[in-house]
Amino acid sequence: MNEADSERIAVRLERKHKKARSLNEADLIVVNMCSVRKPAVDRVYGLLEKFKEIRKKRKIRTILTGCIVKKDLMRFRKEFDEILEQDKSFKDFPNYAPQQTALIPISTGCNNFCSYCVVPFTRGTLKCRDHKDILKEIKKSAQQGVKEIWLLGQNVNDYQSPADKKIDFSELFRLADKIKGEFKLYFTSPHPKNFSDKIIKILAQSKHFSKYLNLPVQSGDDIILKRMNRPYTVKKYKDLVRKIRKAIPDINLSTDVIVGFPGETKKQFSNTEKLFKELKFNIAYINKYSPREGTACSKLKDDVPFKEKKRREQILIKIANHG
Ligand code: SF4
Repeated sequence: MNEADSERIAVRLERKHKKARSLNEADLIVVNMCSVRKPAVDRVYGLLEKFKEIRKKRKIRTILTGCIVKKDLMRFRKEFDEILEQDKSFKDFPNYAPQQTALIPISTGCNNFCSYCVVPFTRGTLKCRDHKDILKEIKKSAQQGVKEIWLLGQNVNDYQSPADKKIDFSELFRLADKIKGEFKLYFTSPHPKNFSDKIIKILAQSKHFSKYLNLPVQSGDDIILKRMNRPYTVKKYKDLVRKIRKAIPDINLSTDVIVGFPGETKKQFSNTEKLFKELKFNIAYINKYSPREGTACSKLKDDVPFKEKKRREQILIKIANHG
């Protein structure tokens, strides 16, 4: 999602400015920050040192935008020349080359408040784009010869067009699928809690669907899922995967999972291990838990040692790579 935002910021800037080849040549530096994971935040703090070095040699103007938590915002106010609120208008559609991937936001923000996630606090609650604007951008991308089109939202299954309440995500996908062109449609991310039979049917019959699906499970243990505020059980998730695989047998399934969530015991982790062995995901994105400021989890003790998180991560990587 941040990549899509950055593309649109670049479109706006390039109307008036020439693109610099590197940070060392730029007089205006816009940082589009993501606070979802700690390493991304650390990278912005790292940039502050770089700015100091550049400023010794020449004048630069620095602007910060994107997802920023309150604590960082206070510090960054002193370090950046300007802080800009995230643009939610999505007006600046990029001119894609055929070999590029088109990134089309369908919504921003989220109402789900998973207990570890900072998105509802940085991007705010769910705001959906008009389906007509989204379909126009898909059409334009197809006309530009783009082969891969991604529809982006924090939870695409929560989508509802502000122009027509009857247009939910499955309906939007069905309309997008009617657009002429040689492109494949991808989307991320759907929430397992509301992945409907209707969307499975539409995907199974679609001519543009890429047959790649990221379905974040986050944990293979019901108690941990509950504490994550993810309202589904492992059984419900497994049933959903079976249903999807039955309807689309050649689907490529990926998942996201967090290891070392506060209080996650070895037994609870072994349930995630079991799930990985059973479902044999094609790809897995494994994240070691780190507390994010402002979330419900930030009040919990981060009590799984880093070494143990690393061990759990390695176990899942091994299963994901070798089945
Ligand atoms: S659904 Fe995704 S974006 Fe929304 S709160 Fe949960 S993890 Fe964050």
